[in-house]
Amino acid sequence: MAASSRIYQVAVPTPLYRVFDYLAPSTLAPGTRVRVPFGRRELVGVVLDEVAQSELPHNRLKSITQSLDADPLLPPSLLRLLRWAADYYHHPIGEVVHTAMPVSLRQGRPASISGVAVWTLTNAGKAVDPVTLKRTPAQKRLLDVLSLSPAGLDAEQLAQISLRWAAALKALRSKGWVSSHQRDSWPASNTDIQGSPLLNPGQQAAVTAVTAGLGQFRAYLLHGVTGSGKTEVYLNVIEQVLAQGKQALVLVPEISLTPQLVDRFARRFRAPIALLHSGLNDQDRLNAWLAARADKAPIVLGTRSAVFTPLKNPGLIVVDEEHDASYKQQDGLRYSARDVAIMYAAREKIPILLGSATPSLESLKKAREGAYTLLELPDRTGGAGMPDVRLLDMRRLKPSDGLSLPLREAVAARLAKGEQSILFLNRRGFSPVWMCFDCGWVAPCKRCDAQLTLHQKKQKLLCHHCGAEQEVVRRCPSCRGENLHPLGEGTERVEGALQNFFPQARIERIDRDSTARRGALEEKLRRVHAGEADILVGTQMLSKGHDFPNVTLVGILNADQGLYGADFRSGERLFQLIMQVSGRAGRADKPGEVLIQTWHPDHPLFAALQRHDFHGFAELALNERRETGYPPYSHLALLRAESPMPGAALSFLHDARTLAVRLSPGAGVQILSPAPAPMERRAGRHRAQLLVQSAQRAPLHDFLAQWVRQLAEAKFAKKTRWSLDVDPVDMY
Ligand code: ADP
Ligand code: ZN
Ligand code: ZN
Repeated sequence: MAASSRIYQVAVPTPLYRVFDYLAPSTLAPGTRVRVPFGRRELVGVVLDEVAQSELPHNRLKSITQSLDADPLLPPSLLRLLRWAADYYHHPIGEVVHTAMPVSLRQGRPASISGVAVWTLTNAGKAVDPVTLKRTPAQKRLLDVLSLSPAGLDAEQLAQISLRWAAALKALRSKGWVSSHQRDSWPASNTDIQGSPLLNPGQQAAVTAVTAGLGQFRAYLLHGVTGSGKTEVYLNVIEQVLAQGKQALVLVPEISLTPQLVDRFARRFRAPIALLHSGLNDQDRLNAWLAARADKAPIVLGTRSAVFTPLKNPGLIVVDEEHDASYKQQDGLRYSARDVAIMYAAREKIPILLGSATPSLESLKKAREGAYTLLELPDRTGGAGMPDVRLLDMRRLKPSDGLSLPLREAVAARLAKGEQSILFLNRRGFSPVWMCFDCGWVAPCKRCDAQLTLHQKKQKLLCHHCGAEQEVVRRCPSCRGENLHPLGEGTERVEGALQNFFPQARIERIDRDSTARRGALEEKLRRVHAGEADILVGTQMLSKGHDFPNVTLVGILNADQGLYGADFRSGERLFQLIMQVSGRAGRADKPGEVLIQTWHPDHPLFAALQRHDFHGFAELALNERRETGYPPYSHLALLRAESPMPGAALSFLHDARTLAVRLSPGAGVQILSPAPAPMERRAGRHRAQLLVQSAQRAPLHDFLAQWVRQLAEAKFAKKTRWSLDVDPVDMY
């Protein structure tokens, strides 16, 4: 070993709370990927630092086998952010760094943008009316999906649209409707650019406030009802950012929202857009990530994990629907992309714009206290009013397949006028219970404390928690009777019932089952927009962002689910959900109506909904949180444990608690008693949790830092799978 060897600290993807020292003969900048020997394996790690000395004697240090990047892959700004995330979420730095990289980079593949052949519609193809392709459904589907993908689709993406994609593509090519090109550089928009509409005073004030603050850190909370023109505010601020030669990172909660947003960005800017979401193949993801890093893409648009995109020249971060729970990662590094984004903006000294019709109580409280700037858009654009919200008192109404008579009449009235209706039900499948009507037996999941859901079209009983699937039981295992029936309703059942009530109506069901095939959701949405559907039945997939101008009725079928939920956030979630779904109604010139079926019409949450009074609801909810000491009036961390052995998780948590008490955490840090998870058994594992609560963040984090490191080393912790969730969003 040459005496001149340098020592580097390397982040290696292991669950250990430390970095590892390695030798290398040459200079390696922080952020460079390296291959290192690790036990019997070789792993891809990232250099964090050069150090003068190691705790290990020089002759016991191993050498880096290979340096994978000529220039450091992770820029210093991203490395700083990742170190912060490792500290804040008390997660091993090696895993954090790993999480932040696209898959192919984790595997050690070269960090170079490579060309992929993609197909797009030609002008002739764009002019084709898809209806003329009715007899060749595969071609029609390809045309439909391509028309929504201005950047083009590669073979892998096309293959997911139809089994017959290759033949269909050949046919479309021979007609001159599609053409292929190499996607080697970053595609810039080639559509006609449309300018901004004249902003209304609220929008103008918001744009002025944020643009005045470019070049310095500030968080802005843009609270605007659905259809109030929030996206237009983002676009106008981004325009200024691009004019300064800077990049904008835009986060959205759902992949399904990206096509329409991309479309709006493409119509406004000629700038290339780097897209980052889980629906992309590895190569596209890598290309987008590298384009952002090289400043080849001024606009970076993506879902949760896009928050870890390196930006060469950051100017602004936008988090759309900032309250959305999907910003929180639920396994591994349990980060909140919104919170990481705020820290990113703070470190880069740029503004961050958080938008929502129903801001989280956390963000609202910060805005009220002046830590964030609150920007309000109180009205819908174009003079559209807020929908009329009416409660249907289900104590007096007898529903049939979940549909009360007034709701059915309201749907019928829309059908007669050629308007569209949305019926919202947060439960997929046919019925949530399959029951013996002789003895009361209900079909259970063998691996979860849960009942199986009947899926009628599939003729299967499915567990929505572990994915288990079994044949429909025809003879009761308890009493041998054959009087088994579905109980309660899911979207599949409501769809069928509507078809019976309204045989002529064209119904689209939108839920995870009906949109599993790639392109299916896009196709359904296109039909809705084209007026080829009368009624939409769906789960919360329907609630997000989609703009349906001809929808004038929204029916909420099971609003009470969540009214008295176990989670302290269930009321907040329900309010957000109903506001979002209601926001789909009457966005254009036609007034909308929202009908809510409830057994609790006197609940104050509904009164606030009827007045469209977000602030009134927030006042109630914040008071309740203050009294109960829940966030945003305290900070939480949840230690979860699970084991195939009954009792093991709980016993681990008791030991963990003993350890915690011995560490004597600072004043105000409360360690509650371990308790079984609300669903104790899931996928064959017994689960339990231990809540830690603190009024102040600093003592909580000091305590957690010591605690997790000791847990990681503790003998009693070896046999149980455990994880720490800082700022948990789902309490079970
Ligand atoms: P949000 O993001 O709050 O739901 P959008 O920005 O999508 O609202 O605006 C809703 C609709 O109103 C869009 O069709 C948009 O083009 C239009 N719009 C937004 N601002 C204006 C404006 N100032 N004048 C006219 N139309 C506008
Ligand atoms: Zn029975
Ligand atoms: Zn199950």
